[in-house]
Amino acid sequence: PINTADKPLPHPEEVLKSIFGLPSFRGEQAEIIRHVVDGGDAVVLLPTGAGKSLCYQIPALCREGVAVVVSPLIALMRDQVEALRQSGVRAAALNSTLTQEEARDIREALTAGELDLLYVTPERLASDGFISFLARVPLALFAIDEAHCISQWGHDFRPEYLQLGRLKERFPDVPRLALTATADPQTRDDLVHRLQLDDARIFSASFDRPNIRYTIVRKDNAKSQLRDFLKAHEGASGIVYCLSRKKVEETADWLTAQGILALPYHAGLDRSIRDKHQDAFLKDEGPVLVATIAFGMGIDKPDVRFVAHLDLPSSIEAYYQETGRAGRDGLPSDAWMAWGMSDVSLRRRMIDEGASPELVKQVERTKLDALLHVCETATCRRQALLAHFGESHAGACGNCDACLTPAEMWDGTEAARKALSAIYRTGQRFGAGHLIDILRGNKTEKVERSQHDDLPTFGVGKDLDQKSWQSVFRQLAARGIISIDHTAYGALKLEESARPVLQGQQPVELRRDPVSKRRQRAAAAA
Ligand code: ADP
Ligand code: ZN
Repeated sequence: PINTADKPLPHPEEVLKSIFGLPSFRGEQAEIIRHVVDGGDAVVLLPTGAGKSLCYQIPALCREGVAVVVSPLIALMRDQVEALRQSGVRAAALNSTLTQEEARDIREALTAGELDLLYVTPERLASDGFISFLARVPLALFAIDEAHCISQWGHDFRPEYLQLGRLKERFPDVPRLALTATADPQTRDDLVHRLQLDDARIFSASFDRPNIRYTIVRKDNAKSQLRDFLKAHEGASGIVYCLSRKKVEETADWLTAQGILALPYHAGLDRSIRDKHQDAFLKDEGPVLVATIAFGMGIDKPDVRFVAHLDLPSSIEAYYQETGRAGRDGLPSDAWMAWGMSDVSLRRRMIDEGASPELVKQVERTKLDALLHVCETATCRRQALLAHFGESHAGACGNCDACLTPAEMWDGTEAARKALSAIYRTGQRFGAGHLIDILRGNKTEKVERSQHDDLPTFGVGKDLDQKSWQSVFRQLAARGIISIDHTAYGALKLEESARPVLQGQQPVELRRDPVSKRRQRAAAAA
């Protein structure tokens, strides 16, 4: 209600130009906005940076009443409200950080029809008192941001979101708009269903980010791998993600000692330091920012040239969201990640020891495995990533490490048969370490105790070293020929597709893991 009753409501194009100072709509924005202004429900599935915010901010100004925006992130709310106010939009945020007085002022402004946009947290919106209050306020629309949070299949489930399903019954005439940048097909179906948006129009665009080059390497002295990567990007700004605060600080210190300007950023640092480092990063050619994933949400810097991961993210969605912060200006950018088996164990442990209910843990494990599949794939990374979002891509993108430097392959048929046979003959009860001991003929205490040295498979795999066998098992798992039973200490099990391999009816091509320079040097020195 930027207008009063006697003034006509503005048109979306007018608002775009006069309030937001932008010349034209992008992609499907105009369509989405027209649909919502006309009172339709919508589900908007667009990648990060596509411009989802305008899809509700403009209808908010082109319809009578206040638009209620649900957002889980208080920091993000604050930034958006600030930006809107600077453009002359009457916006406010209602969340737990307000004093009672501030909250009362906002309620009064709402009743008086003096607000265009109100940001609220999902728990606030879900409370009975607030719903009854809203019933007396003229409403333009509901926008549900980060809508994937309503789904247990999503990577960021928030139980507070579940209550939002009630909005349809309570406010049948108010258009509702759900937005997300990250949802696999299962999560999408689930969020549509739970938000009762079955009749909504769905707007989606390809999730492909063609200007981002994906590179995923095995860790082998990760810090120096990172340094080499950064040296190739001197003077460009980028983000290095680490899992823990401690590692953020260590990495930033180490890089600085190596002559690379790097600043730490995590939630444990003083607000003033965080702001200072963020500002330095936001300047045109800022330093490298080493951060936990606390950094990045709502950061709008178009020329981030690279995003590097020194630790494995929790899922493809998380990886995609984090790497998606690179190259919003459409120029060539890099997404680089180093990962190792220790990351996998750490992630598994985080899931096992986490607070989620068992059902959610199972989803988390599946999501981690899907990411590992992308890490292990010998074919186009982009194709594998997009497949996860339900998009088919022909592959051979020419802009990922697998396409640019195709892996050397070897005939792993015999090795795979031996590995599968070792699993089968030991009753599918053991992890890779023990199985490799059997294959390599190591008479460990455990091997002797279980009399596995009597098996015909004992010692048949002496031709491959420990690392090569690990690679065989990893690749078989990544292809779904075997699976890892996390409820049984990582025991390996045969899947249906193991049968033709075991029976020698299907050849298996395996990727040769690149030998690092360090290992080459070590081998040459030996
Ligand atoms: P998302 O929520 O989809 O990640 P945002 O709404 O934060 O994306 O928008 C990302 C950036 O794109 C913002 O800087 C925004 O101002 C800009 N933007 C959005 N729509 C347009 C447009 N039509 N023309 C130019 N810039 C736009
Ligand atoms: Zn590719």
